[in-house]
Amino acid sequence: MLIDTHIHLDAAEFDADRDALLAAARAAGVARFVVPGVDVASFERIATLAATQPDVRHAYGIHPLYVAAAGPDDLDVLTAWLARGEAIAVGEIGLDHFVAGIDRDVQERFYIAQLKLARRFGLPVILHVRRAVDAILKQLRRIEVPGGIAHSFNGSRQQADTLIAMGFRLGFGGAMTFDGSRRIRQLAATLPLAALVLETDAPDIAPAWAQGRRNEPANLARFAEVLAELRGIGRDELIAATGRNACAVFGARLANSRHSRAAR
Ligand SMILES: [Zn+2]
Repeated sequence: MLIDTHIHLDAAEFDADRDALLAAARAAGVARFVVPGVDVASFERIATLAATQPDVRHAYGIHPLYVAAAGPDDLDVLTAWLARGEAIAVGEIGLDHFVAGIDRDVQERFYIAQLKLARRFGLPVILHVRRAVDAILKQLRRIEVPGGIAHSFNGSRQQADTLIAMGFRLGFGGAMTFDGSRRIRQLAATLPLAALVLETDAPDIAPAWAQGRRNEPANLARFAEVLAELRGIGRDELIAATGRNACAVFGARLANSRHSRAAR
């Protein structure tokens, strides 16, 4: 199953043509879209998308680049949304030590609190990790969560191996389509296949063939081809394996058809 494990489908960039883009992605074979939250204002939009699109699943979380704007009650609001039982993960959460001007202590406070929520609700996490893998790992060792994905992974081989040993999968997408992304391409080619999942992160991280434009959900099909080629295996084998890996992270609610629920 071809699964986009990370796509901001609720982004305003898609407001004009979201349905057409979803249709194009489905025609290209994409079977599931996992949409993480970025702030409490996004939760309603995401819940509506998931309730109206049979192949959309969602997560709730406060993104590290949004913590500065988060209010004191936002963790309570997040807790209430998670308590509804619809989300398949807590995310997008994590640490960003690349973008300047975002207080690292505040990021860490939100990251730790959300790891504890993932543990409490028994949910995997969708991690945003930028120049902060060791700081991310430090808290994952303290606060045990039911696995998850380090999305758009861009760390070292050793850091990758540590995350994998702790039961995490690593997300690969647009960045591996650039010849110049040597380290990412090397990781994508050589890490154990069981550790890899596909993602677009659309509308962000446009691939080499769409540089300067928005990234779109249908690109996932080409990402699968790129990754298969990097690894020297067939496209179908790659899609089957990464689909299984995504299902292993998110559980039955990712793969299960939701017809019965939509009819409720
Ligand atoms: Zn994201």
